[in-house]
Amino acid sequence: MTYDVIIVGAGPGGIFAAYELMERNPRLKVAVFEAGHALADRHCPIDGERIKRCIHCKTCSVMSGFGGAGAFSDGKYNITNDFGGTLHEYIGKKQALDLMEYVDQINLRHGGEGTRLYSTAGTTFKTRCIQHDLHLLDASVRHLGTDINAVVLGNLYQELKDRVEFFFDTPVQSVALVEGGYRVICLEEVHHCRDCVISVGRSGSKWMEQVCRDLDIPTKSNRVDLGVRVELPAEVFAHLTDELYESKIVYRTETYGDRVRTFCMNPRGAVVTENTNGIITVNGHSYHSSEKQTENTNFALLVAQHFSEPFKDSNGYGESIARLSNMLGGGVILQRFGDLIRGRRSTPSRIRDAFLTPTLSATPGDLSLVLPKRILDGIIEMIYALDKVAPGTANDDTLLYGVEVKFYNMEVEVTERLESRHKGLYIIGDGSGITHSLSHASASGVYVARNIAE
Ligand SMILES: Cc1cc2nc3c(=O)[nH]c(=O)nc-3n(C[C@H](O)[C@H](O)[C@H](O)COP(=O)(O)OP(=O)(O)OC[C@H]3O[C@@H](n4cnc5c(N)ncnc54)[C@H](O)[C@@H]3O)c2cc1C
Repeated sequence: MTYDVIIVGAGPGGIFAAYELMERNPRLKVAVFEAGHALADRHCPIDGERIKRCIHCKTCSVMSGFGGAGAFSDGKYNITNDFGGTLHEYIGKKQALDLMEYVDQINLRHGGEGTRLYSTAGTTFKTRCIQHDLHLLDASVRHLGTDINAVVLGNLYQELKDRVEFFFDTPVQSVALVEGGYRVICLEEVHHCRDCVISVGRSGSKWMEQVCRDLDIPTKSNRVDLGVRVELPAEVFAHLTDELYESKIVYRTETYGDRVRTFCMNPRGAVVTENTNGIITVNGHSYHSSEKQTENTNFALLVAQHFSEPFKDSNGYGESIARLSNMLGGGVILQRFGDLIRGRRSTPSRIRDAFLTPTLSATPGDLSLVLPKRILDGIIEMIYALDKVAPGTANDDTLLYGVEVKFYNMEVEVTERLESRHKGLYIIGDGSGITHSLSHASASGVYVARNIAE
């Protein structure tokens, strides 16, 4: 065997697996293969001036490279079992929380000290929400911010680079079972290992499906979340974001009984595009440093779509809606809330006349031509509901960017050790379909590393 352990993917799942393996057993020979670039070489060419839109780089630096999809993220580590994944269903609630706390401590030791931990415990805002049938989920949130998150990742890399072998710009083509371990096949080389940890995140979802087909590992998939990113003046949500930073609020619509939730709140942040397998969707982030903050707050409003038999391709459904917005807008579509409810498209002049300046250059258009009625109705209902606890949310100038899609990787069948039906093959992080967040993905990496090191 060339390596004791090979990790595929250097996102939070892969990084924390490598970190914990070195903590537990520094004698292990560990390699990490990553399709994207080293952290220092990760640059998205969109500068808002010369290049305004996604130019479909061969490897998307936002989604791939050391740090994974989380590298330029807001660095919000939500310590909770209420959202962000279902890791607790495999490893138990207490252990899941303990591992998330452990990850938080590592982040603090690697540059995150001084960042704030927000908590919903004891907030009066919860009561105000319930009075309007809005439900605030419980969580503690460590907000590193995009800037400090990069510092933490840089420090983790410095600590690991001499103890673990990193192969950047090296996408793994396939993984095959061999006597006593695995053969990991890259474009130009082949490596062997005893244990293999696959942590390929969302960008590796199609590749993961192929691996599961090749190795006959059962999967299931039936969910996709669709919606928009809302951007409004930071003052509208300041009473909430100053105290809680991020609030996950869930609402059940009167019309259809669907659940709509706020997701990924970025106080004084910026809206950004995201490229998943060539499809442009929208996301958001914010900085810790006040110099880089904007005057706007953004968050997603998502409606969960669950499908039943015979339909199985929930991600395909989300992709085709995102493609529709890409077809009409050449990327992300932007619409004022006032235009949406009056049934008219937004135009460049209506956006210019607004009291709010968009933080992302997107194409003014009409989201009702893209999103299914049921989803759009749910979003409009939720905006009016939020307006009761954060007056101003339903103002005409509130901006809606579409579409935001939360793809759920198909859920890979694994044991409570996060091991597939093949001994020594572990599937973790967002690529497993079990986690959907930085803290859950990182915790899953620590967890398998401990199992392997034992
Ligand atoms: C803009 C943005 C903002 C976000 N903000 C937050 C936030 O504030 N809080 C939060 O909790 N979550 C956030 N998320 C989600 C979070 O980033 C992910 O949940 C998390 O990164 C998942 O970690 P992971 O290690 O499972 O996968 P990833 O981070 O996706 O890493 C997987 C890695 O595997 C690599 N890979 C894929 N296929 C292969 C292959 N075949 N061979 C080799 N390498 C491969 C990829 O290049 C990638 O680097 C955000 C995501 C985005 C895109």
